[in-house]
Amino acid sequence: MKKWNLVIDVAECHNCNNCFLAVKDEYVGNDIPGYCASQPLHGHKWINILSRERGRAPMVDAAYVPTSCNHCDAAPCIEAGRGAVKKREDGIVLIDPEAAKGRRDLLGACPYGAIWWNEERSLPQAWPFDAHLLDRGWSAPRPVQSCPTGAMQALKISDAEMAQRARREGLQTLRPELGTRPRIYYRNLHRYTRLFAGGTVLGTRGGVVDCLAGARVELLKDGSTVAALDTDAFGDFKFDRLEPESGAYEVHVTHAGHRSAPVPFELRQESIVIGDILLQLT
Ligand code: SF4
Ligand code: SF4
Repeated sequence: MKKWNLVIDVAECHNCNNCFLAVKDEYVGNDIPGYCASQPLHGHKWINILSRERGRAPMVDAAYVPTSCNHCDAAPCIEAGRGAVKKREDGIVLIDPEAAKGRRDLLGACPYGAIWWNEERSLPQAWPFDAHLLDRGWSAPRPVQSCPTGAMQALKISDAEMAQRARREGLQTLRPELGTRPRIYYRNLHRYTRLFAGGTVLGTRGGVVDCLAGARVELLKDGSTVAALDTDAFGDFKFDRLEPESGAYEVHVTHAGHRSAPVPFELRQESIVIGDILLQLT
């Protein structure tokens, strides 16, 4: 049985909001009988783009994570809905606009905050994956079709194939520890959930200071090397995917037999820009 999934590449999302607007265009003022009631003009973000900046000048990056109803396979909203929320055979979760009337409690049932309250209609609502369009033969929901960077991809494949793909491509879901089994997967989610430690290696020779390309940089934890890389053409290095609150590290730099003093730092909730590390070459 083939089911719908969404794969979103955080590294390719530029926060243009086309996906958000496509959903507005599709649902604001449009009742879709059998699927959902219209979205109110203001207040709802059925596609909600989260953002995070990491680092500080001159080493900064930004990550954008479009979120929505995850169409979970073990959805707490279905259990809480007592018939008001249903999962279709193709994996899509729909909140029944008739049966869910007045069920404000369903907002609290979704651990992702993906359900919005429609005050005028007295209805809990979430993005229904454009199920009405897919049922008419569309090959992908509108947010996917409106994405100019290809950051979103809709896949209708078997669960076994999706699990294999997730393993092979390192795809992640949001808050897997909840056991809700979301059908929305992310590539490069570490840019939002993990931290980096970076800096620049400079070499000084004959009183001249310059960026040092190709210097070996090692990252040590508890005295052991956990990662190593070479500086780029600008002398920059960046260790990514580090765990928040992972504590004390050291950076060691070597180049052509020269070695820097160890540079200690601590990782808490923010990425670390170590700054310049100067290597005396002569
Ligand atoms: S994301 Fe929330 S609303 Fe959507 S299926 Fe999961 S629990 Fe239900
Ligand atoms: S349309 Fe694509 S690039 Fe634009 S915000 Fe949505 S996912 Fe990101």
